[in-house]
Amino acid sequence: MSTKPAVDFTTQIVHADRWGGAEKGAIHQAIHSSVQYGYDQVEDLIAVFQGTAKVGYNYARQGTPTTAALEAKITQMEGGTGSIAFSTGMAALCAMFFTLLKAGDHLVASKFVFGNTNSVFGTLADLGVQVTTVDATGAAQVQAAVRPNTRMVFVETIANPGTQVPDLEGIGALCRDKGLLYVVDNTVASPYLFRPATVGAGLVMNSLTKSIGGHGDALGGAITDTGLFDWAGYPNIFEAYRKGDPKGWGLQQVRKKGLRDMGGTLASHSAHQIAVGAETLALRMERSSATALALAQWLEQHPAVAKVHYPLLPSHPQYARARKHFKAGSWLLSFELKDPGDCLPLCNRLRLPIKATGLADTRTLIIPVAHTIFWEAGPEVRANMGIGDSMIRLSVGLEDAQDLLADFEQALAG
Ligand SMILES: *Cc1c(COP(=O)(O)O)cnc(C)c1O
Repeated sequence: MSTKPAVDFTTQIVHADRWGGAEKGAIHQAIHSSVQYGYDQVEDLIAVFQGTAKVGYNYARQGTPTTAALEAKITQMEGGTGSIAFSTGMAALCAMFFTLLKAGDHLVASKFVFGNTNSVFGTLADLGVQVTTVDATGAAQVQAAVRPNTRMVFVETIANPGTQVPDLEGIGALCRDKGLLYVVDNTVASPYLFRPATVGAGLVMNSLTKSIGGHGDALGGAITDTGLFDWAGYPNIFEAYRKGDPKGWGLQQVRKKGLRDMGGTLASHSAHQIAVGAETLALRMERSSATALALAQWLEQHPAVAKVHYPLLPSHPQYARARKHFKAGSWLLSFELKDPGDCLPLCNRLRLPIKATGLADTRTLIIPVAHTIFWEAGPEVRANMGIGDSMIRLSVGLEDAQDLLADFEQALAG
C-alpha cells in the first residue's frame, strides 16, 4: 500500500483499490466469487459473527471484499461515513424504507419521483406507514405536511422524467430543525454533479445502474450515510443495533435487516463492472451534460416543440437552484411536441436514439413516457405529476453532439 496524497474526485476513484490494499499488486480490486469465508481459528469466525473483528466476511449475502471495495468508493464519492451496496437501486430503496420505517410512522415524499419508488409508497401504505406526497420544489409544502409521527422526508435531486429540482437546501434546514431523517435519491445528478451531504441529507441513495456504473451492463444500488443524522434520537433502531458509536446505528440496521435478511445482495462480478464504470463518472457526466444542454437549447427554439424540461435552461422553474447546486445539468431531459400526434412517429424517425427504457447508458435512449413507464400509474397520477400524453424522455449518451443534433433536425423536419 503506497502513501495516499490529498487528491480530487477522479484521482481518488482510480487509485482507491490500490490504496485500499489490493492483493498481489493488482491495481483493480479482485473479483471475489467465494460464498463462504473460512478461518483457521474458530475464535476468528466467532469474532466476525459477534462484530468484534475489524474486517471479516462470513457469508457473501452480507458482502464480499469486492462489494466492500465498491462501497468504500461510493462513500468517498458522496463524502459520507459508510455505504451499503445492493443488487439494484430498488433493492437499496426497499431495504432502507422497510427497515427504518414502521407501521404508524409518517413519510413525506416528493410527488415527483421514479415510478417504481412511487409504487413502493403504495406498499408502505398497505403495511401501515402513512405516506404524504407533496410538490417538494417548495420547502413550505413539505413543512405543511409534517406531522408529529413524521420520521423521514424523501426527495430526488433531479426528478425523472420532469426534471423538477426540490428545495434541497430548504428541506435540509427543515429536517435539521425537526430532527427528521432526510433521504435524497441522487441517481440522476450523481455525486460528481452534486453531494446531498452539502444540504444536510442524512442518507443518500444511488442507483448504480445509472450514472455511476454508466454502461448499461450491470444493475446495482447503494445507500450512503453522510454522518449528519443523529441516530441516537431515532426511535426505530432495534435494541440489538443500539451498540457502539451511534453514528453507525442506522447503516448497521439497514445492513443487518435490509441486506442480510432481505437478501438483495450485489454480485461481486457486478460490483467489479460498476467500479470500473465509476472510474469515468466525471468524464461521462461532463460529456453527456454538455450534449444534453445543447440538445435542450436546440429543441427549445424549434417551432414544433412545445416545452423542454432541462434544469439548466433559463426557462426551467428551478433554474437558479440548479445553477447554484449542480456542476452541470446531467443526461436527463424531456420535451413535449405542439402536435401530440407526432410523438410516436418522431421516435420512429430518429435513427440514433434507441427506443428503450433505462437511463445513463453510453447510448442515447428515448421513450414516450405516458405510453410506457407511466402507463400503469394511470391518467390521474400522470396529470398530478405534470406528465403530458406526448411527453418524450431522453437519456443522453456519449455520442458526438453534432450527430445527435443532426438526427433530431432530420426527424423533426420529417
Ligand atoms: C432507476 C432508478 C431507480 C431504481 O434503480 P434500479 O437500479 O433500476 O433498481 C431509483 N431511483 C431513480 C431516480 C432511478 O432513476
